[in-house]
Amino acid sequence: MDNKAIAERLDSFATLLELAGANPYSARAYRRAAELIRTTQAPVADLIRAGRARELRGIGRGIEGRLKELVETGKIAELEELERQVSPDLVGLGLYLGIGARRAVQIGEALGIRTADELREAAAAGRLKEVPGIGPATESKLLAALAREDEPRPARGMLLHRARRLLAEIAEPLGAIPAGDPRRYKDSNDRLAVVAGADDPLPVLDAFESLPQIVTVLDRSERRAHGVTVEGVPVELVVVAGERLGTELVRATGSPEYVAALEPLPDAPDEQGVYRALGIPFCPPELREEPFRCEPPPLVELAQIRGDLHAHTTWSDGTATVEQMALAAIARGYEYLAICDHTPAVGAVRGLTPDDVRRQADEIAAANEQLAPFRVLRGIECDILPDGRLDLPDDVLAELEWVQASVHGGQRLKRSEQTKRVVEALRHPSVRCLSHPTGRLIGRRPENALDLERAFEVALEEGVAFEVNGLAPRLDLSGEHVREALKAGLQIVCSTDAHSILGLDNMVLSVATARRGWATADRVLNTRPLDEILR
Ligand SMILES: [Zn+2]
Ligand SMILES: [Zn+2]
Repeated sequence: MDNKAIAERLDSFATLLELAGANPYSARAYRRAAELIRTTQAPVADLIRAGRARELRGIGRGIEGRLKELVETGKIAELEELERQVSPDLVGLGLYLGIGARRAVQIGEALGIRTADELREAAAAGRLKEVPGIGPATESKLLAALAREDEPRPARGMLLHRARRLLAEIAEPLGAIPAGDPRRYKDSNDRLAVVAGADDPLPVLDAFESLPQIVTVLDRSERRAHGVTVEGVPVELVVVAGERLGTELVRATGSPEYVAALEPLPDAPDEQGVYRALGIPFCPPELREEPFRCEPPPLVELAQIRGDLHAHTTWSDGTATVEQMALAAIARGYEYLAICDHTPAVGAVRGLTPDDVRRQADEIAAANEQLAPFRVLRGIECDILPDGRLDLPDDVLAELEWVQASVHGGQRLKRSEQTKRVVEALRHPSVRCLSHPTGRLIGRRPENALDLERAFEVALEEGVAFEVNGLAPRLDLSGEHVREALKAGLQIVCSTDAHSILGLDNMVLSVATARRGWATADRVLNTRPLDEILR
């Protein structure tokens, strides 16, 4: 059993625990463990067999027991029991229809049903009122929702990394291509679709229905199906004859406005063919938001990135050492990596004191000696205190080669105060880049009340760059803000904010977000060699 398979089982366990209304902390602990195992390099199954699972940080005794059971027997008994109790397809359909998971489980128990089909039958037979707590009003609401069941409904804002992972898992066994919002790297994804080319659609549709990720299928026609995941997320499958694959791919990828402006689309086996037949230049998926028929600029590409300027290590809340992170950066073809651990004011996790910063310098120097000509930069992610001062003394900051300034606490300050505070930090002579400039957490926390236009102005005067943070819950700056920043004349930095080796792969998301903001390589600081970046 490889790490990916173990992580998937833990994720299912977490989902079912959540759905069964278990203690939210235990569900979260399993999710964290799944993420940890996904990002661990060594084969976790071996560690478990050797009784060393708890050396992985965040794996407690309870989870270790489940892991042992999984590796030794290939299953987790309680997970199978939960699957029996919770009936994932009933819960998936319920969530899709807007019924909470617990309610769906209650309905199932009260009616003695286990599947989505049985729910539909029971509803049609007028049995919903037998469920305690369901009166005529709720019944008619549910019946109405069931009647509209096959109308495509948005997925309600799935984060990009999860949406892309889900679509990849669904597309791969079908030989399909992931499309929909995630192909445009939207920060919050509502339309999830995959497109398959096949002359005979039947086997593809059948395979789609039997995927573990798809718990129930809402509707199915000759060449199309809508399935739902256990979390109630709808996924669309389009099967098309090979000679029209490009056409349907364009249709399933662009925003409705973008596609409508190109219709009627000519038939072609690939997207290039569609654009050729339309007589317009090819448009990268990231730009297919607003209607656009012109020649796009040469957008920055992942291969042009020469280094990552924001990564954490075990010195703060990362899971890998300086050397491990540097080796991983070398493996990604980079020339440099800035180690930017936290400072004490960050609060929730360990932050580096001036003394720590100097001790870390020795470790970085040793890594540099070993790994030359690769360069590990002495950096920091320094908190901006509420009054605009930085969280380390000026002389310590002056020693560093790359200083990121970050707002972590005090996100709710008034606009005037937040702006004043950030402007003051941007004026600091050591600061090179503002991290996650708006502080948003997608779907969870709005942008800080920061006057971005003013911040752009000051950053331009001071030669400070703005980060495009590649963590999926952040993607900050957003594509729209990247566009505004570039119009204001700023430089941006594509960074991962990696807290693990695999976290370095978030560069894909950062670069895609910059592309959504029409960024070309000359505007992205870390496409340059190091001697042009250091000052
Ligand atoms: Zn941060
Ligand atoms: Zn960070």
